[in-house]
Amino acid sequence: MKYSIFNLVKNSLSYHQNWEKAWNSPDLKSEYDVVIVGGGGHGLGTAYYLAKEFGVKNIAVLEKGWIGGGNTGRNTTIIRSNYLWDESAALYNHAVNLWEGLSSELNFNVMFSQRGLYHLAHSIHDMQEISRRGYSNYLNGIDTEILNKDQVAKQIPHLNVNGRYPVHGALLQRRAGTARHDAVAWGYARAAESLGVDIIQNCEVKGINVSNGKVVGLETSKGSVKVDKVGLVPAGHSSVLANMAGFNLPINSVPLQALVSEPIKPILDCVIMSNSVHVYVSQSDKGELVVGAGSDSYNSYSQRGSFDMIEHMMAPLVELFPIFSRLKMLRSWGGIVDVTPDRSPIIGKTPVKDLFINCGWGTGGFKATPGSAHVFAETVFRGEPTDISGPFSLERHFSGALVDEAAAAAVAH
Ligand SMILES: Cc1cc2nc3c(=O)[nH]c(=O)nc-3n(C[C@H](O)[C@H](O)[C@H](O)COP(=O)(O)OP(=O)(O)OC[C@H]3O[C@@H](n4cnc5c(N)ncnc54)[C@H](O)[C@@H]3O)c2cc1C
Repeated sequence: MKYSIFNLVKNSLSYHQNWEKAWNSPDLKSEYDVVIVGGGGHGLGTAYYLAKEFGVKNIAVLEKGWIGGGNTGRNTTIIRSNYLWDESAALYNHAVNLWEGLSSELNFNVMFSQRGLYHLAHSIHDMQEISRRGYSNYLNGIDTEILNKDQVAKQIPHLNVNGRYPVHGALLQRRAGTARHDAVAWGYARAAESLGVDIIQNCEVKGINVSNGKVVGLETSKGSVKVDKVGLVPAGHSSVLANMAGFNLPINSVPLQALVSEPIKPILDCVIMSNSVHVYVSQSDKGELVVGAGSDSYNSYSQRGSFDMIEHMMAPLVELFPIFSRLKMLRSWGGIVDVTPDRSPIIGKTPVKDLFINCGWGTGGFKATPGSAHVFAETVFRGEPTDISGPFSLERHFSGALVDEAAAAAVAH
């Protein structure tokens, strides 16, 4: 059923009791052409584009929990494309272009809000970093503005520009912003299912069967399944899945947490990030301040972070915005992020034939969701990388052709 004002009025007559289910819970079939492991935004999006743009008919998405219950539903929803390197600019800008039409493409409001994002600079060195990145963005056709202190003070009136962390300026991307994370998973799930994709929740992949170097099947908590191709998109557990197929990934899995305040009236109409003092904040449509920081410094598969990180993000927040100091914090949560040495993702082939992987998005993959899913679908379908996904191969960690975004953005969201 198409979501429209007409159907909204029609369903109001029956007190909204007769809406169709957005997606169903089919049984696992014994065989699929393509199985996507991981029902986050990237996995569901991949299935959607495989069905829609490449006409693949027999696809399943296997999710060990509930769709969107991984990092897709746990992140702080920052979307931007002002990365340093050309390869990253191409990937993340492809995503922003798709974000702009995503609600109408999926017939599902993902609440994409291009409210602008300010990367604050607190020192001469920070100013040099944002200038370098800003000029690189100009060259790549990415909208960017380098602001001085007075411009920042005028545009963000509650920001303390003369405090313990003096503000020298900022890099502004006006096309950047936020979206409703759950809606992205739900929108892709609904659209994929309408194209015949089986979305199977509570179905954990426990083994990967390889014969003569080619993937041939999966062992799951709901039984065995034969496959022609598999796309692994299991953020937080990429190394675990890779080990099942007999290879290793250059990945560290670490907790990353975020928190929200009690809801307040609109006070912040943009996204603020400070890489050097390690905090970022935006205000959700419900009124809560959504706050995040860097990841924990130890490896873990627990979906919760350590207490000192909470203190670490609150201290600079109140220095930058003294007006927030008496707000109560409502809740905090964590996710597990897979971090590569160069802080760029891995999208492409694996040592096993017809087994592809999309992982390593670390602390910043939500923004890439449509772009990543789109290029990964093409990579899986053709069996070869695309122009955009090519530089993000697993192979780069052996050849040395890294896409080093680590130094360019200490907080890589
Ligand atoms: C606190 C926090 C804040 C963040 N903030 C931002 C931000 O502001 N902006 C940004 O761009 N990014 C941010 N990120 C990163 C972003 O959330 C992720 O990079 C992105 O959501 C990854 O999406 P995904 O679809 O690949 O993964 P997920 O949504 O995690 O999906 C992977 C799925 O795979 C499933 N899975 C794992 N193992 C198996 C198995 N064996 N069998 C079946 N299923 C399996 C998991 O259950 C999970 O649902 C943040 C992350 C966190 C944790």
